[in-house]
Amino acid sequence: MKIKEILRDAKSQLAESGISEVDAEHLLAHVLGLSRMDLHNPVLVESTLLPFEDKDVLEEQFYDLLDRRLNFEPLQYLTGIAGFRYLNIEVGPGVLVPRPESELLVEAVLQHIENLPAPVSVIDLGAGSGALSLAIATEAPTTRVIAVEKSPEALVWLKKNVSVIAENVRVVEGDVADVLPGIKCDVVIANPPYVPDSQKLPRDVAGFEPHIALFGGPTGMEIPQQFIAAAARLLKSGGVLVIEHTEEQGGAIASALSVDFLEVALHDDLVGRPRWTSAVRR
Ligand code: GLN
Repeated sequence: MKIKEILRDAKSQLAESGISEVDAEHLLAHVLGLSRMDLHNPVLVESTLLPFEDKDVLEEQFYDLLDRRLNFEPLQYLTGIAGFRYLNIEVGPGVLVPRPESELLVEAVLQHIENLPAPVSVIDLGAGSGALSLAIATEAPTTRVIAVEKSPEALVWLKKNVSVIAENVRVVEGDVADVLPGIKCDVVIANPPYVPDSQKLPRDVAGFEPHIALFGGPTGMEIPQQFIAAAARLLKSGGVLVIEHTEEQGGAIASALSVDFLEVALHDDLVGRPRWTSAVRR
């Protein structure tokens, strides 16, 4: 089959299952080792295919991935890569796929770092794949970043990404409750698990991504509260916390912050939903 026909067929199968059609292009580009844009360049596609004697093998690989996507496996688990700011973060089962919303938290931290004397110390609580830590470490290279994670499965991805992207990020295995005793830093960034336990999530999220990274307890606030307590313990006076949450949790987050923090400010995500909060340690 020709590339065009394969794509047309795959897109219609995806559409029937309510999955984004563009995923067909991502998967085919991945199998061919090309970018999505390159797929529309027939000369390039031809020269990529030339060395493969048996084109059926490629087609088989593609249809295998397509079947897994049609079974709602996350696209990024199939390609092994999630784009986050300027980085390609390696992901797979056991670690949350970085979300575009979190890019805004990184942006806020980077702006704050610019106004502080170097070197600025940043602790990323519940670092997962390391997307937030690594974006900060690469975009603000004088920053000292510590990535804290407790899930052994996520730690495998975290260490892998750190070794490839920015070896100066320090990985610390531990629970936010008692990790890094005695340490004080300038900034804490956190994307804690905050989804209420009873909330229904899309099939590709609930069925494949680690629940430890998603669910925050019966109200969804239990784990974020632990992260806030940890941030209060780890921040210097005047240090800044930036934390992600659901659009319903702004009030609960603000009241959890009211004892130890000042200047609590709620911020919107890319589509105008109040999805993250910043605050200054008293
Ligand atoms: N935003 C994630 C979702 O898609 C939740 C991530 C989290 O709990 N930190 O549900």
